[in-house]
Amino acid sequence: MTAWPPPAPDCWLLPSVKVRPSAIAGVGLVATTDLPAGAPVSRLGGRLVTTSELRRLLAGATAYVDTITVASGVHLVLPPDRPAGKGNHSCDPGLWWAGPYTLATRRPIAAGEELTNDYATSTGEPAFTMPCRCGTSSCRGIVTGADWARPDLQQRYGDHWVPALLDRIRSGPSDRSGPSGPSGPSGPSGPSGPSGQEA
Ligand SMILES: [Zn+2]
Repeated sequence: MTAWPPPAPDCWLLPSVKVRPSAIAGVGLVATTDLPAGAPVSRLGGRLVTTSELRRLLAGATAYVDTITVASGVHLVLPPDRPAGKGNHSCDPGLWWAGPYTLATRRPIAAGEELTNDYATSTGEPAFTMPCRCGTSSCRGIVTGADWARPDLQQRYGDHWVPALLDRIRSGPSDRSGPSGPSGPSGPSGPSGPSGQEA
């Protein structure tokens, strides 16, 4: 089991990164200065909850609940409406994980560029799916909570996943007869998407 430090109570965002209208969706995070590769940009904070607490939260939510998986059965829930939570997904992102809560630049970033991350690197909930129109040449069209198992993504992102997914990746190729295989629902309550929205 991976040890992880407790999160800060709130989020931190590099002051030169601003929330601006996005070409991908709504608003996003935009660099207002050039950034070198490896620069920490965002450190998420909030509180840790269990999977069952998270499902209760999502079921009762009236607004978007911003959350990432930190470790197996442990999720970070951000305080509502934080700028650090506005990062959009891209299938060819400029940010990736450099610790349990920290996103850093994956390559040099030019001023004016939108800062994105690949939600697959922080989402292991099998029920999560999201259509993607990021417009990059490597766009997968749909992002899912099972994308972490894709060899092409494991190759591309190396160690830059949240710890829970890195643990799964390091424990080897997924064994479909294993205890948490990706086949149909087996729990007492069906999984619901992270947005908590009804179809
Ligand atoms: Zn895409």
